[in-house]
Amino acid sequence: MTTVAHAPIQVMTCRGECPAAARYPDHHELLLAVDRDPEALLALLELAVTWHELDYTDEAVIGPAGWLDFAATHDWVFPDRAERAFSLAVDIVGRRIAGTGAAADVASSLATVIELVRS
Ligand SMILES: [Zn+2]
Repeated sequence: MTTVAHAPIQVMTCRGECPAAARYPDHHELLLAVDRDPEALLALLELAVTWHELDYTDEAVIGPAGWLDFAATHDWVFPDRAERAFSLAVDIVGRRIAGTGAAADVASSLATVIELVRS
């Protein structure tokens, strides 16, 4: 029997190219559930809260820089909830950055991201 590469069904919901699905298939799948699964939502918020405390450089996770794009380029069962989840997560990470003195940049990028997610 030939082994066929497993293609997660969620990938089919991606519009156009989705680098996240190729690079981080497991985290991609988890993030796709944030609008339906409390565990996935909590995992996203935990990641946001700990982003500046733990070292994620070797972890196969999609970082905050990709969250708003991710929210904007995927289809959701509950779009409003997905938008709130990713906006909140980005806001959490941004608040930590703001504490280091880069507040203006963070506010600017947050505004851009929120605009992206809402469009
Ligand atoms: Zn995707």
